[in-house]
Amino acid sequence: MSVLQVAVNKPLRTTFDYLPPEGVDIDTLTPGVRVKVPFGAGTTTGYVLAIANESSYPIDKLKQAIAVLDTQSAISPAIHRLMLWAANYYCHPVGEVYGTAFPAILRKGKALTPLGERYWELTEHGLGLPEGALGRAKKQAQLLGILQTEGAVNESSLRERGISPAILRALKNKQLVKFSLQIPASKPWQGAQGLTLNGEQSAALKAMTDAGSNFNVQLLEGVTGAGKTEVYLQLIDHYLQQGQQALVLIPEIGLTPQTLARFTTRFGGERVVAMHSGMTDAQRARHWQLAAQGLVDILIGTRSAVFTPLARPGVIIVDEEHDGAYKQQDGFRYNARDLAVKRGQLENAQVVLGSATPSLESAANAERGRYQRLRLTQRAGSANLPKMSIIDVRRQVLQAGLSQAAIDAIAQTLSQHEQVLLFLQRRGFAPSLRCHQCGWIASCFQCDAHLTLHQGANHLRCHHCEARQPVPGTCPDCHSNQLITKGVGTEQAEVFLREQFPGTAIYRIDSDTITTRDALHQLLERINSGGPAILVGTQMLSKGHHFPHVTLALIHDADSSLFSTDFRGEERLAQLITQVAGRAGREAKAGTVLLQTHYPHHPAITEILKQNYHAHSLALLSARKTTNLPPSGQMVLLHSEAPELTQAEQFLLHLKQRLGQLPTNVILIGPLPSPMQRRAGLYRCQLTILGQNRAVTQQITWALIREAEKHKRPSRLRWFVDVDPQELF
Ligand SMILES: [Zn+2]
Ligand SMILES: [Zn+2]
Ligand SMILES: [Zn+2]
Repeated sequence: MSVLQVAVNKPLRTTFDYLPPEGVDIDTLTPGVRVKVPFGAGTTTGYVLAIANESSYPIDKLKQAIAVLDTQSAISPAIHRLMLWAANYYCHPVGEVYGTAFPAILRKGKALTPLGERYWELTEHGLGLPEGALGRAKKQAQLLGILQTEGAVNESSLRERGISPAILRALKNKQLVKFSLQIPASKPWQGAQGLTLNGEQSAALKAMTDAGSNFNVQLLEGVTGAGKTEVYLQLIDHYLQQGQQALVLIPEIGLTPQTLARFTTRFGGERVVAMHSGMTDAQRARHWQLAAQGLVDILIGTRSAVFTPLARPGVIIVDEEHDGAYKQQDGFRYNARDLAVKRGQLENAQVVLGSATPSLESAANAERGRYQRLRLTQRAGSANLPKMSIIDVRRQVLQAGLSQAAIDAIAQTLSQHEQVLLFLQRRGFAPSLRCHQCGWIASCFQCDAHLTLHQGANHLRCHHCEARQPVPGTCPDCHSNQLITKGVGTEQAEVFLREQFPGTAIYRIDSDTITTRDALHQLLERINSGGPAILVGTQMLSKGHHFPHVTLALIHDADSSLFSTDFRGEERLAQLITQVAGRAGREAKAGTVLLQTHYPHHPAITEILKQNYHAHSLALLSARKTTNLPPSGQMVLLHSEAPELTQAEQFLLHLKQRLGQLPTNVILIGPLPSPMQRRAGLYRCQLTILGQNRAVTQQITWALIREAEKHKRPSRLRWFVDVDPQELF
């Protein structure tokens, strides 16, 4: 008796056994096909993960699946295995993980719109029609004439000749014409002329092509402006000439237009498609099919594109591989960079991870010899690395957080008709509002967080739960009217700079001012058309964008990450400053980077000033070894949140106690309240699992999960697992 092992789209870490539907030939079923199954009181869509010969349940107790929805699996065997691996590795409900590989339309149990264009031709009935049979219907007669002389004709060509869809429909209803979907075959790629590579770029490209089209990982560590993209383009060219496809992951949707433009300029628009969350379900499904059927050669996408099947996989490129955006922060908390490497292994493809500031995870893999490290230490073309220095702001008068030296440097740059990039960590006007009389601070009523003042919008906002409150006129505690702001956000910097530099173009670039991808794209085009300007922004500015006219990058406050409780604090600061600095002086004009700090002698600052991220990262890596923190050890967090702190704490404590004796190479820390103890009205705790061996860490994690699943818990208590966490708050 054959049994279908089915994963359903529900938060359950288990599969369910079903009998095949009536009349279905079991031999035609393959893993990955979707089925409609009875579930609870209703029905749901599920995925057949395996076909077994027996069940651990009595066969007569098994329900029968209602229908098989696919004749063959929509995903490739490699993606099938990737999803099963990911469900186990990330300890996440298997149906939710598996469903991530499918376009939303398929997840909902519906069918995809087939690709291809309609080609119209005459039916047998139409072929036998005597001349003049259509009488005075002139357009219908014209269509008949075209098809009689030309055979099958595509619909767009008919439209150009004035045949409307209504005419086609009319003749189709008379059963005189019919259509079939056809896809024009793509021509083999002949290769394109790339830019001239410098010595390091050529050596890197040669190492990649020599390594060959089987599974191997290259870490391309190239300083900002070193021309990594040109190396990617020429590597992809190499694969396309062999008839293979490329998958390119980028960290942020905002980078799509400029990345897409570079790729389509080189390879032509019909060979390249994008995949990101800004597209409709229908667009995504179409691009997904084009990639899966091998009808396009290059897929460029954000995080979730890593799951898109390719018919002829050759190479997977992860650009800005250090970027935290590759980690999904809710639900199925996967890291797309890590899954790209696993995927390369499963489908025997080459994987290239590129960054100016590689993550310590990738640096460690390079040190261990698992990845081949290729370095680009020179900027491409005539550009040189920017000169970096600090402004010691101790005892200085600051205006909107800016020292006189910084203001002078801005004025100087503008007078040379060049552009300034001012980087701040915080958006809004000020990160806190407080009472000068009694010290009251405006705080979120449901988070352990200060409210940010947004002056233009005239409200206080919590950046953790988005709660809004009106700006009070007086202190709610002592009724003083001496309310003052503390700290500086992008909005305040912009207001100050407008007063200081009237008539100068000033662009604020943060998630308050840039709400659509197109808005960012248009703004970048305006900025890059040249002329003196000041760009004020947050993280959004630091990511991979190319600003040819920026010659001064000014880091408003380098100190905020210096005393971070996150063990990755120093790594992140070094990456951030290196990336922001990398926006300056990318072309002929030399760049300058200024760092405002109260701690000019802090070792993290002095290391960054050496502008040798490579050496710095190796030093940080050896520090992680002594503490056994990632990437030296593996970390897993078990989070709980509940209306009361004790509930959240007791739940995790119970799980820990049930574990009993631990192996010596794993330690459990906590449960402890999370660094942000209360968020959106719930108290949060975490139990940290730190292990030296992945298999053992995973085994302990699963043991905790099994206990959590069977343990009775307060109804409003929620818990989740975060494997290889990026955020510890
Ligand atoms: Zn007060
Ligand atoms: Zn809040
Ligand atoms: Zn229990």
